[in-house]
Amino acid sequence: MKHLPIISGENVSRNFKKYIRSALHRVPAPIISALAEDGWQIQLSPKAETLFAPSSRVAASFASASGTSHKRLRGATCMSGEHVVAFFESYIDDSGIIQQGPGSWITEDQIVHEIGHAIDRKTGEDTGTSLSDSPDFIAAYHRDLAGLNNRERIHFNYFIAKEKGNITQDQYARREVVAEGFSQLLLGGQKNEPTDNNGTLLLSWLAGTPQNSVRPFREAFSHSLAALENELSPRWLTPATQSQKTLLEPT
Ligand SMILES: [Zn+2]
Repeated sequence: MKHLPIISGENVSRNFKKYIRSALHRVPAPIISALAEDGWQIQLSPKAETLFAPSSRVAASFASASGTSHKRLRGATCMSGEHVVAFFESYIDDSGIIQQGPGSWITEDQIVHEIGHAIDRKTGEDTGTSLSDSPDFIAAYHRDLAGLNNRERIHFNYFIAKEKGNITQDQYARREVVAEGFSQLLLGGQKNEPTDNNGTLLLSWLAGTPQNSVRPFREAFSHSLAALENELSPRWLTPATQSQKTLLEPT
């Protein structure tokens, strides 16, 4: 068992560090330890551009549907190269105003989501096939996609390949389902519904007719989640209740 280093840049508040640590405590000890063994680090920065320039070629993934520009990144995981998961304390909104504060815009599920990306990549490095590329998961994912109604296809846009038949896009989308599924499995699906750019829950679907309604992520992607749990459980989720408080590097 090994400590997972949390490297904190200048001007990162104590509150933010505390918030990240407490969210990481939701991840089972064997996962934290295994990432540490592989040299993974958590990096905390004031804002995204201090770590990833807009022109950066670092393969990053994005913690939220609204975080698709570098400036708005909340968290990112390198999917090649460095073993880094990064979290950012602030971002610049559309009006150019700096939004800041733990909990007010980065949520626990987004933090665990990024660890999901890391474990996806780690599995690929260990076995040659990442969780998101395993045949069982791919089959389950496409089964879920086939079952989405039109409103769900819009609602879960982030988890659907943008161009049909483009393998890279499909892999990108599958990675997002693995990361979000990981977060849902560990946190029980709390606070995980997509939000709009202001962080407000998108509840407009409540007015929809039954055949047009939007199911929660864990129902819409139920086959994907089951396949993911099957692959994660034997290796990572037992014993799920083990505490890893001692495995995060002491502050
Ligand atoms: Zn992601």
